[in-house]
Amino acid sequence: MAIIGGGLSGLSTAAKLHRLDSSIEMVLFESGHRVGGVIHSEQVGEFLIDHGADMFSTKPSAALDFCRELGLEDQLIEPKPTRRGARIVRNGRLLPIPEGFVLMRATQLWPMLVTPLLSLKGKLRFLLERWIAPAKSEQDESVSSFVQRRMGQEVLDRIVAPLSAGIYTADVTKLSMQTTMQAIASMETKYGSLARATAVRRRKGEDSVERGSTGARYGQFRAFQGGMIELIDGIAQSLPEQAIKLNGRVESIRPMGDHWILTESGTNHEFDHIVLAVPPKAALHLLQNVAPKASAELGLIESASTAIVVLAVSAEDIQRPVETFGFVVPLSEKRRILAGSFASHKFSGRSPDDHVLIRVFIGGAMQADLLDKPDEELIKIAREELSDLIGLTGDPVVTRVVRWDDAMPQYHVGHGDRVRIIDEEIAKIPGLSFISNALHGVGIAPVIKQADQVALEIVSSLNESGGSSNGESIG
Ligand SMILES: Cc1cc2nc3c(=O)[nH]c(=O)nc-3n(C[C@H](O)[C@H](O)[C@H](O)COP(=O)(O)OP(=O)(O)OC[C@H]3O[C@@H](n4cnc5c(N)ncnc54)[C@H](O)[C@@H]3O)c2cc1C
Repeated sequence: MAIIGGGLSGLSTAAKLHRLDSSIEMVLFESGHRVGGVIHSEQVGEFLIDHGADMFSTKPSAALDFCRELGLEDQLIEPKPTRRGARIVRNGRLLPIPEGFVLMRATQLWPMLVTPLLSLKGKLRFLLERWIAPAKSEQDESVSSFVQRRMGQEVLDRIVAPLSAGIYTADVTKLSMQTTMQAIASMETKYGSLARATAVRRRKGEDSVERGSTGARYGQFRAFQGGMIELIDGIAQSLPEQAIKLNGRVESIRPMGDHWILTESGTNHEFDHIVLAVPPKAALHLLQNVAPKASAELGLIESASTAIVVLAVSAEDIQRPVETFGFVVPLSEKRRILAGSFASHKFSGRSPDDHVLIRVFIGGAMQADLLDKPDEELIKIAREELSDLIGLTGDPVVTRVVRWDDAMPQYHVGHGDRVRIIDEEIAKIPGLSFISNALHGVGIAPVIKQADQVALEIVSSLNESGGSSNGESIG
């Protein structure tokens, strides 16, 4: 069995396979010099810096369950109980997200009526939501079209768009409701409006967590004491010895009889099963001759890039401290950053108490051109924007620029249909599986859930066909 790609998708599929059947011989090819893909953490003196993801959701429970299986539960921490919530920039000021507003639904009315984020006109338009007829068809539509239609332009521009951009670094005029906000879309279908859905949920006591949250339900997230790298290390350690081949870029795969020939660094290897776990661009290349239709569909999935400027600063250098986990910036503010996250407010062990560790997000789908700038320029931009927004002065004690090129797959309108075609095409090819964060969810939890399913399918197909063989070098 060959697994191509040593990010979370490939690693977790390998670990699940090994747990299900320890007799499966496997080689995981990773083109880089380390596993983990976009997940990595770095300790710099007293600062613990997550380079990519810094927490995962316990819903679905797949990631939490996996941590338990791996014996990593002891290392998990919850976000700190204080300062939970986020702010939104409006006219240069950091204003609280109305209490009870989670993603794109207000679970409390009063905070929406008094929030300075919206004008009187914007609030009146928001109140009309319960009387707006539901969409006639259940066809996919963009997040912006849904929110504009139901709650008006102001709620979209000033609250929902920056919050969604904070998660997907996306263009909300293209972001798919059906594949990113399915639960909200179906509330409209089932209850006719979000206001009615909220009233029903409140009666049933279903919104108790949401009503006390702002922006996200932080209680449902977990991080690692030693950073997200602990997840990667834990998974890698659970694999059979010698299973991981670093600096092993796979150049091509092709079927030969009931086997596969995999070419890596000019050498051919033979395998009975291949799990493809690489990002869309790499996958479409490897699938070009094997599954042309799936490859063509993958070519239509765009990916956005981002840079995270990490600044460790003295708490005394922040003239207007912000008592939340972070803030997001609407496009209309015409700033050069997407969001700021106070890592040391969120989790313990990220910095000494008299310092603050800040991660500033730049680029994304809407400001990609900023990423052409050199690192020093990005640091300058982050410092200038923070100076304006929170009164940052002085010099940071640590700076880092982490660039993630094409790392955030964009689930645009029609994504669900595209993924259905890709899944169907791959399913037709014996001995080939494909897992990616570009298919069934971008977060750590949905990726691990997908790994569960892929591993189960492989093991049942191997049981039917009678075993697995390791890669033999065939020159
Ligand atoms: C900046 C950022 C922040 C995020 N924050 C969060 C968060 O807070 N919470 C959350 O739940 N999720 C978060 N995510 C999402 C989550 O981290 C990713 O969806 C997930 O880690 C993706 O894993 P993957 O294995 O699918 O892809 P990748 O991590 O991209 O791994 C793919 C691997 O394949 C390798 N590869 C590529 N081509 C080849 C080849 N030809 N041969 C061999 N190997 C190859 C690459 O080197 C790479 O290691 C974040 C993502 C980013 C980018």
